[in-house]
Amino acid sequence: MISPSRERHRNETKLGALLVRFSLAFLAVFALLLGGAYLFQNHFIKSSYLQVRDLALLTENLDLLEKALVEQESGQRGYSMTGEQSFLDAYNRGTADYEQLVQNLRDRAFLTPLFETDIESLLSDIQRWENRHIRALFDQSLLGRSASATQLKIDEAAFLALSAEFDDVLSRIVVQRDLERERLLSRISLTLALAGTAALLALGLYVFFIIKHIRRLIDPLAALDRAISFYEGSRCEPERTDYTSSGELGRLVGAFNRMGEDMRRESEQLEDTYKMINALNQAASLQDVYRETLVHMRALVQCDKVSLIMQNADRRFYFKTVLQGEHLKPKEALLPGEQAQLWELIRGGVSVLHEDWDMRRPRGELADRLYGSGIRSSVQLLLRKDKRIVGVLNLMSAQPFFFTAVKKQRLEKLVPLIVTSIENVRQTGQIQSLAMRDGLTGLWNRRYFEDSLVKLHNETFPKHNPNAHPLSLILLDVDHFKRLNDTRGHQEGDTVLKHIGLLLRAYSRFGDLPVRFGGEEFAVLLPDTPIEEAADVAERLRRLIEFDSPSPDYVVTASFGVAELQARQNAQELIRTADSALYRAKAAGRNRVCIHGEDLNDSA
Ligand code: GH3
Ligand code: MG
Ligand code: MG
Repeated sequence: MISPSRERHRNETKLGALLVRFSLAFLAVFALLLGGAYLFQNHFIKSSYLQVRDLALLTENLDLLEKALVEQESGQRGYSMTGEQSFLDAYNRGTADYEQLVQNLRDRAFLTPLFETDIESLLSDIQRWENRHIRALFDQSLLGRSASATQLKIDEAAFLALSAEFDDVLSRIVVQRDLERERLLSRISLTLALAGTAALLALGLYVFFIIKHIRRLIDPLAALDRAISFYEGSRCEPERTDYTSSGELGRLVGAFNRMGEDMRRESEQLEDTYKMINALNQAASLQDVYRETLVHMRALVQCDKVSLIMQNADRRFYFKTVLQGEHLKPKEALLPGEQAQLWELIRGGVSVLHEDWDMRRPRGELADRLYGSGIRSSVQLLLRKDKRIVGVLNLMSAQPFFFTAVKKQRLEKLVPLIVTSIENVRQTGQIQSLAMRDGLTGLWNRRYFEDSLVKLHNETFPKHNPNAHPLSLILLDVDHFKRLNDTRGHQEGDTVLKHIGLLLRAYSRFGDLPVRFGGEEFAVLLPDTPIEEAADVAERLRRLIEFDSPSPDYVVTASFGVAELQARQNAQELIRTADSALYRAKAAGRNRVCIHGEDLNDSA
């Protein structure tokens, strides 16, 4: 048995040939009908027509014969009474016509067999009448003997009798002719009706068949057109057509549908990829890069779980960032099992695909837990910078075979994008930090100091809580530095500045901001520090500088001014007050700490 789709396939495949075959068959049937109609008309209509024609000819000949006889008879009668030549001529004409017509009738008698004997007897009666009444009397009048009145009467009666016989035969022939004519007409109409009905029937069948099959040709063509539109995406509501068939057009429709869907999916993926590139380009921090990578990867791949394991800036250990819902879980340390698995992965040096966790899955407790939570397919992509592995991107799905070798290959193409963004952000961070630092000492520069001061100032005096956090500032200036430069050289001066930079950095607390203020002037900004504590710090620094000189050949000292941010003071005013304390320290003989608001505090 042929399945419906198989049958459809066969019909669709052979539809063109079928239509041609059917048209030929229709033509053959039509020709047969025409032949049948021709034979029918030949057999019945033509014979009927010939009968009618022969009967008509017969009546015509009999009419003419009657006329000839009348002419002959009246010529004979006139001549026998008057002897005039004109009657003789009429007689002769009538006689010639009579002979000719009799001959004709005899010759054609077989064509009207129904009346053959009637004609024969009529002709012999005429012959008899002719011999007895016309010829005999005519011969008599030629001899000059005129006919007697009795004789003429007898002649006339005989002629009337003959005429009656004539009329009788003629009328029967006419009846028969009309009958034949009617039969002919009815046969013609029957033929026309039959042929017309048959032709209409055949034509109807043909049209029905053609329409039915053309529809079957048009339906897949329309479906194909829809599929092409779907492929081109030119429709407002592009939907794949539901036409399915294993025929050529069905396969073509299927192919266009699949191509359309692939195109759509690919363009969506491309769009998602562009979105990811864009987001990665705009990421300002590493945290941003991690988040954008995870969010966009999950949208692009449409998988269930994404996480990122990254190398720290010091390249020593790895941490994990996980996307939970829409939120980025903060950096997590790796579990011991995870760490071991990571090292195994790094040693392997290639991205790892687990198409179906039921068949094979990563080892370890974490993998077991994930398996328990329904994960069935995963890929771990290594993120490389040059030859170094800087991280791993984990993608997981609850669907087995969600990740395939082809998908993995495609995803690997995105890896350089992510790595480049991470590197860019790292480099930008480094450049920014360079711009904020002093080249000679490595301390923060004045610009960064001022930015930080404004920020800290705002934090120190939030509108709702004045005096929440004290903020102090130490300003220091190397004493007689010009002299040192002049006597020991500029380079030695630089060494001293670098040395002070080291001291400030080494002895600042976490959160303090050591700054090279400019030239041989330095500052330390101390958040969360009241002025007394800041004065202690300044004093400690003063001693450090004095007793830890970079060279045993000379002693370096510095003067200090300390101030604390007061309510309603702005950042510049804090600097100014610290500076005036410093000025006082200089004026008082240098190498000392002066606190703003106090009298000179001689600590030398
Ligand atoms: P005072 O005790 O009053 O501060 O005297 P001073 O000589 O330290 O002060 P002054 O402002 O007269 O001189 C500062 C000198 O510091 C002048 C300048 O040449 C020198 N100087 C500024 N920046 C640098 C630098 O980066 N390296 C070196 N070697 N010298 C610098
Ligand atoms: Mg100075
Ligand atoms: Mg100085």
